Amino acid sequence: MPPTQVLVTGAGPTGLTLACGLAAQGIAVTVVDAAPGPATTSRANILHARGVEVLTRVGALGDLPARSLAPVGMTMHARGKALTTMRFAPDTRESTQALFISQAAVEAELRRRLDELGVPIQWNRRVLAATPDTDGVTVDFGDNAPIRTDWLVGCDGARSTVRGLSGIDFPGVPVVEQFLLADVRADWDRDRSTSAGWFHTDGMLLAIPMRDNDGGLWRLMADVPKTSEHLEPEQIIARFERLLPERTGETGVRIREALWTSVFRIQRRLADSYRAGRVLLAGDAAHIHSPIGGQGMNTGIGDAENLAWKLALVAHGRADESLLDTYTAERRPLATEVLRRTTANTRVLVGDGPVSRALRDWLFVPLLNLPAVQRDPNRVPAVGHLPRRPTRRPGQNPATGRPDPGPRLRNRRRHPHPPLPAPELRVGRAVPQRFPHGGHGRGHRPPTPRRGCHGASRPDERRRHPRDPPRRPPRLARRRPGQAGTVAH
Ligand SMILES: Cc1cc2nc3c(=O)[nH]c(=O)nc-3n(C[C@H](O)[C@H](O)[C@H](O)COP(=O)(O)OP(=O)(O)OC[C@H]3O[C@@H](n4cnc5c(N)ncnc54)[C@H](O)[C@@H]3O)c2cc1C
Repeated sequence: MPPTQVLVTGAGPTGLTLACGLAAQGIAVTVVDAAPGPATTSRANILHARGVEVLTRVGALGDLPARSLAPVGMTMHARGKALTTMRFAPDTRESTQALFISQAAVEAELRRRLDELGVPIQWNRRVLAATPDTDGVTVDFGDNAPIRTDWLVGCDGARSTVRGLSGIDFPGVPVVEQFLLADVRADWDRDRSTSAGWFHTDGMLLAIPMRDNDGGLWRLMADVPKTSEHLEPEQIIARFERLLPERTGETGVRIREALWTSVFRIQRRLADSYRAGRVLLAGDAAHIHSPIGGQGMNTGIGDAENLAWKLALVAHGRADESLLDTYTAERRPLATEVLRRTTANTRVLVGDGPVSRALRDWLFVPLLNLPAVQRDPNRVPAVGHLPRRPTRRPGQNPATGRPDPGPRLRNRRRHPHPPLPAPELRVGRAVPQRFPHGGHGRGHRPPTPRRGCHGASRPDERRRHPRDPPRRPPRLARRRPGQAGTVAH
């Protein structure tokens, strides 16, 4: 076996994407995972457009688009009434659409690609210790078969051992005390073309339709007061059987089978750095946040792509090690923004206290009915505005490392905000559908183009209206010494 240049710890979506990227560039990569084999639970169920693009570039998209559920909308209920439906149709202005597909399916395609590239995954190998020196890292598994590697990357999830061994801090705070989750097959006479959220004084309940041959698979999520009691799957299902009528008002739901249950606490944490010498972090090992908005897997996949080409150049001896510092410099601000937005969105949705609940039910949800908001859900903080692509450096393409004309920056004169944050929760274009249950709706209507915001699908890209004045060249961000081309904030 050739000596290992990069040891990837963790065969989740981040580690697999990284390993594919490195192997495709001829790096001798070893992948280890503590688990006995691949995870089969669904976990993430949205692959956003930028994640689809990364998978396409690493050759791991496979037949995921064919297996994806059609984009859904979201109906929100408060005070016992359906107040609004945001309907998401494929955005014809985007060449790539988000996919509603399970994390298990995404991981399976990545494993297929990695296998094609000739890299086996070593299951049942838990990293226990790592001793770095100037030339590399010796990694110990407690089995008298340590691996010597030039670089060690921790893609080993939220409780990362590698992060702990590297000494990188992971400060943060809890956002929501406790969430219950269950993927269940249920008899439920409910429209499966939209997800639904019920805002109740005791908490929120979400029901998201999931793809299943049986046709009755739902993901249920509810925030509940924290308890130290350990809940078995049957107890979680029993709680949902109580919560469903209480929070949704629907009494005819019969849960037939539970495929996965979980109890989790939403935390917001960010690693102080993504690199300590020859040890690097990516994915949940570097950042964790609320799953609302579906950003975790996507951000990890983005980290992996950014790191893969840089690490390949450094490992091949074609670039100086300092190139790796741009990885933290580019990806950490993006994760900061993801944490900020997902925390804000979660707090709005969960309604932390009577005042925020009142604001949510009487102001935020009704706001969603405004035609302008229906046309562009990103006007409301709890619906969109999440980073969709890494900050790109003019002169360098993060995927290939090859020369690139640079990012399309917003016209800063018209749009004074920085270009980075952009919608992710928005999976397609929202089609207006006001008061769908109340009879006042205007039905489906395409968005009306307006001057200045004609067809803009995200803040850093706007389409031109025929009557717009000639386009000025965008002002590029100021460069600071040592930060060539970093977009100024
Ligand atoms: C309910 C829920 C819904 C979510 N929904 C979405 C969504 O819609 N969209 C989205 O993008 N994200 C979502 N997420 C988040 C997403 O699941 C995670 O962000 C994603 O799994 C992170 O991938 P990762 O590869 O970084 O880490 P992980 O998937 O956690 O993988 C880490 C791997 O490392 C291995 N490992 C751990 N310790 C060691 C060790 N010491 N040695 C060797 N191996 C080790 C583990 O066995 C594991 O296989 C959701 C999460 C939850 C809980």
